[in-house]
Amino acid sequence: MFLVLEGIDGSGKETQVKLLAERLVKAGQKVELLDFPDYNSEPGKKIGQYLNHEIKMTNEELATLYAEDRKLQQEKIRGWLDEGRIVVADRYAYSNLAYQLANRVDYHFLRNLDKALVFPEMVFFIDTSVDEVIKRMDSRKKDKYESNRVYLKLVSGIYKRLAEGDIEGFGKAKWIRIDGDKSIEEVHKEIWKYVEACLSG
Ligand code: ADP
Repeated sequence: MFLVLEGIDGSGKETQVKLLAERLVKAGQKVELLDFPDYNSEPGKKIGQYLNHEIKMTNEELATLYAEDRKLQQEKIRGWLDEGRIVVADRYAYSNLAYQLANRVDYHFLRNLDKALVFPEMVFFIDTSVDEVIKRMDSRKKDKYESNRVYLKLVSGIYKRLAEGDIEGFGKAKWIRIDGDKSIEEVHKEIWKYVEACLSG
């Protein structure tokens, strides 16, 4: 089984991947975790340089690097799934759609970049409001985040449309929107409800 968690920065993905993995291991499952992008891969290093303002590139070039980074992990993912492991990824191709459609990159261009991947059964959209994310941050981070408020609201809106099927994502993944403004434990319980049902079904 392949599961992906999506959502804006600070929405709680990392926290929930960890809790979900612990729960799955407790339930006797073999679990593999992935976190995209991999900043140690060749495309990932360039993404890192871009994010540190060391190099410039277009949104299309950036989106292409993210897609290349995902391609590098495909064989590994396929191998794990063939062995019956559960793969949980923090972000996947859907991030490219959410973040780059918000930058007005062409939809067909983005779909084409990631069309040949292994796709998950379920995508959990951790729908945490931008206001709530900012509230959770320490003041130093808050300033940087505040300046991105409008953009992140756009990204969040695109995730909502993907979850509602209003924008076609990738593969046949079932999208599940989770209210990310709730407590860590409540969010975890909600995610687990779906994963447990999938395991026993
Ligand atoms: P992401 O991986 O989506 O960027 P994180 O899991 O790193 O998000 O969470 C960002 C911050 O918010 C962390 O400090 C985390 O402890 C906190 N956090 C995550 N989920 C919740 C929640 N439901 N309620 C309150 N704080 C949370």
